[in-house]
Amino acid sequence: MSLNIASKLEAGKKQRIRVVIAVTAVVLVLVTLCVLLIQLLLKKERLEIEGHVMEVAKQSAVATDILINGDFQTLNLFAHIFEQEPKYLNRNSVKPVLKAAINNTRFYSMGVAYPDGDIIIYDANQGFAPPINVKDFKYFQEGMSGKKYLNFSKSFYDEDKLIVVYEVPIIRNGKVIALLTGAHGAEDYFRAIDITAFNDEAVVHILDGEGHLILRDPSPNTILKSSIFETDDVPNEQRVKALKAKEPLSYWFKDVNGVRKVAAYIPIGYNDWKILAILPFNAITHNSNSVLRYAVIFFFVISTLIILGIRYNIAIRQRSDSMIMNFALQDDITHGLNKTSFYLEAEKILFDRKSEEDENWAIILMDIDNFKIINEVYDMEKGDVVLRDIAQILRDTIQYNGVFARLNDDVFVIMYKYREKSDIVSFVSKVTEDISAFKLSIKVIPSFGVYEISDKNVAISTMCDKANLAKKTVKGMVDCRYAFYDESLSQSILADKEIEDEMEAALKNGEFEMYLQPKISMKTMLPCGSEALIRWNHPKKGLIPPYKFIPLFERNGFIVEADRYMWEQACKEIHSWIEKGLEPLPISVNISRIHFKYENLVDTIESLVKKYDVPKRYLELELTESAFLDNEGAVNSTIVKLQELGYTIAMDDFGVGYSSLNMLRTLPVNILKLDRGFINEATCTERGFIVLNHVIHMARDLKATVVCEGIETNEQAEILKTAGCNIAQGFYFAKPMPLNEYNNFVYNQQRA
Ligand code: C2E
Ligand code: MG
Ligand code: MG
Repeated sequence: MSLNIASKLEAGKKQRIRVVIAVTAVVLVLVTLCVLLIQLLLKKERLEIEGHVMEVAKQSAVATDILINGDFQTLNLFAHIFEQEPKYLNRNSVKPVLKAAINNTRFYSMGVAYPDGDIIIYDANQGFAPPINVKDFKYFQEGMSGKKYLNFSKSFYDEDKLIVVYEVPIIRNGKVIALLTGAHGAEDYFRAIDITAFNDEAVVHILDGEGHLILRDPSPNTILKSSIFETDDVPNEQRVKALKAKEPLSYWFKDVNGVRKVAAYIPIGYNDWKILAILPFNAITHNSNSVLRYAVIFFFVISTLIILGIRYNIAIRQRSDSMIMNFALQDDITHGLNKTSFYLEAEKILFDRKSEEDENWAIILMDIDNFKIINEVYDMEKGDVVLRDIAQILRDTIQYNGVFARLNDDVFVIMYKYREKSDIVSFVSKVTEDISAFKLSIKVIPSFGVYEISDKNVAISTMCDKANLAKKTVKGMVDCRYAFYDESLSQSILADKEIEDEMEAALKNGEFEMYLQPKISMKTMLPCGSEALIRWNHPKKGLIPPYKFIPLFERNGFIVEADRYMWEQACKEIHSWIEKGLEPLPISVNISRIHFKYENLVDTIESLVKKYDVPKRYLELELTESAFLDNEGAVNSTIVKLQELGYTIAMDDFGVGYSSLNMLRTLPVNILKLDRGFINEATCTERGFIVLNHVIHMARDLKATVVCEGIETNEQAEILKTAGCNIAQGFYFAKPMPLNEYNNFVYNQQRA
């Protein structure tokens, strides 16, 4: 489960990376959008500013155009008069006309130039000028070729004064007969270009076709002196292009002081002249500024919110991840390590830690044999308390010598440091003792499997599996609570697996057979009964003896079915003897202690006996003495009940390792089957002989029949006879045999 969580966390991490990538992409898109928006706004603003400058230039151009047109119209009017009345061109009669004209126009001075270059000029202030020849003047040459002329130049009379000079040809019969000139101060033009706009920051010049400033803005903001080419703030091509353009054109540049400005060129319509308006960028209240500001603020707010959101989200996730991780690494019941964290810790100990001299490590797997019963008898909550108490015992016993975890249900794993193998045995005994001391009506019995770590490169999970294999070999055993793993175990586990795969089908197919071993009366030396012993007649492996499968059946519970089958076979046989009119000899059947755990023994036996109509005296029940130890109270009451119902109870294998004598005081048994160890001892040593004698006497005193097992020699048979044993069973008399052989053996002999 923890690994599952770990993989979920891993998936969560990947998901977060995907989210971060996605959000980064969103932020990038936002940034790009903002940049585009800003660029758009800037472009719009530039266009707006260019529009403003162009507007300034246009106003100046219009004002200039009005001036020029007006002056040319005035001149044209007088030229027309001269054309109609050429007599006024007469050098004498022209003077009063000029004088009169001055009074009615804006011109300060007017003049008439004749084809020979002579000119008569009348100036409002100076009167008639001295005669001069203008043959070499540009306006004369232009005029004589039929063109009108306009230019700014310095006044004849005042070098500091700029005047505007106009000229129109007087044409008669398609021939230029004279030129009419007019001049006045440039003040009106200065006014025309002096647009009061943008806090007077705009400057406007009039340029000729070469880029010379023919009328220069007098404002102090003016940087240019005489030509647009005198600075190098923009490439000359750009200025040339603007100069040559027939349409209005503008460009951006930085002036000598580094101020960003826009220049707008607009043609006036005369002499390739242009209006040049220049405006600094910051002269205009930028509407877009606030929009831009809002856009930037908006962007930062959104970005900050997104980033904060992500960080918050990641922090929350990380916190919940670490909580999940804690849960994932902690056992929910004991609050100690769980499987995942145990594996990690164990690896850390094996690989990261500097090991001490003589230090060995073992993986010990422990589980509680009857934990399910505790849960059933009490409840899950009580079960959890027991598990927590067990964890506390482990904690106290292990101390600094290792780590432990609850793997699942009632299974604990311990990684234990030891020097001698006996340290592990002491550890196991101490834990067993403490756990057994729990004050519960059901005894808590742990069993252990130990894997001594010889190669630390073996995966911890494999070590646990091996310890588990060892544990399985002792599960359910009463006399042995722990086992060490050795490689042969794997083999036996494989063999067990094979048996388990086949056992059910074998039972159905009748591969299990009942063999009967005769029992001999010591008094008559004739058969007086038999013991039913199971054999597996395997189609491939042949006859398999019980020691190869009975312990496994006891561990996996299949013994319940196998025994029931044997009991039924025994009942069937007794029934058939009765039917055949033979006098049946009792058959004793083995009853595994496992029955006391799983079923109602009394009911099963009763129903079988009823089914085959078997008188109860013919069915004896053998229980090994270890069965009585498991749960004395429950077993005893069952045995008493069976005895009351008329069954004979035998205690099998009496004398194998337990305080048998003591048990006899309380156990209600009818037959004592002495283990063959007694007879072996009795034949070898004097003490053994004495013990056998006394046990037999004691049993007789307790009114129990004594059966001795494993009689192999005549000598043994004689010893038993002498000692007063009632019945003997052993190869000396007869081996366990199939039914037909047994029937021959019994019914062809004289019987006891
Ligand atoms: P057990 O109940 O004590 O059965 C007596 C065992 O001693 C039998 O072994 C028998 O063959 C063997 N035996 C008899 N005389 C001699 C002898 O002179 N020398 C030696 N060395 N052995 C002798 P078996 O049949 O191999 O059964 C072994 C054990 O398996 C039984 O011990 C019993 O505990 C168990 N078992 C056999 N059949 C069943 C069964 O149907 N149900 C249950 N629950 N256990 C069974
Ligand atoms: Mg037996
Ligand atoms: Mg026996």
